[in-house]
Amino acid sequence: MALEEYRRKRDFKKTPEPTGDAGKVTRAKPRARFFCVQKHLASHLHYDLRLEHNGVLMSWAVPKGPSLDPRTKRLAMHVEDHPVEYGEFEGVIPEGYGAGIVLLWDRGTWTPEVDDVDAALKKGDLKFTLDGYKLKGSWVLVKTSGRYAGARGGEGRTWLLIKHRDDWSGELDITEFAPKSVTSDSDFDEILAEDTPAIWQTNRPAKTGETGAMLEEIIERAAKLKAERRTTQKPQKSRRKKK
Ligand code: MN
Repeated sequence: MALEEYRRKRDFKKTPEPTGDAGKVTRAKPRARFFCVQKHLASHLHYDLRLEHNGVLMSWAVPKGPSLDPRTKRLAMHVEDHPVEYGEFEGVIPEGYGAGIVLLWDRGTWTPEVDDVDAALKKGDLKFTLDGYKLKGSWVLVKTSGRYAGARGGEGRTWLLIKHRDDWSGELDITEFAPKSVTSDSDFDEILAEDTPAIWQTNRPAKTGETGAMLEEIIERAAKLKAERRTTQKPQKSRRKKK
């Protein structure tokens, strides 16, 4: 119902209901953020789904890749956050963790279907819309608790990636149908065969994300400790902001 209609249907002189002052009821629409799926030939072939959030790419490794069929739930291991710059990467990781070839399989934007992404993640149920070249429409990532939860030592890291039924769902095997790079139309061998393949040297997890959140918490606690120490010496002025 439009706000005008809401207002029109109510006489605010008679009822104590909220008038819907613009500043109070308008909520910013969730911003579309970057997403990508990188097909990664490392120790095992898998697809890394990455969703931009809080300045990093939240990441899930999906061994079988996404399925457009809502009946096919795909295991998705929650892995460490990656730096946003990594999202456009296609090329070779010469050594260390993740060594292998990376193919940018799909990319575009994602929009959360919830107001609070962090709360949804904590709850283990994140609904979102993808607008990529190969993946579109509504999806959900659900944290598992049952038989998948302890799979391959992945306690607490196992989620399922599921397509919701909509115009973009279907039985087409998208990983088979569209196996190549979304940017270069290359396959793994072609990426490797390039004269100067792009090389990712700093494949370290982003400093923000989980580590960043922990650090922030520590800084906050330290600041509180300092403040408490100060107040025991002399009373502090109230710093509450007037609005
Ligand atoms: Mn990977």
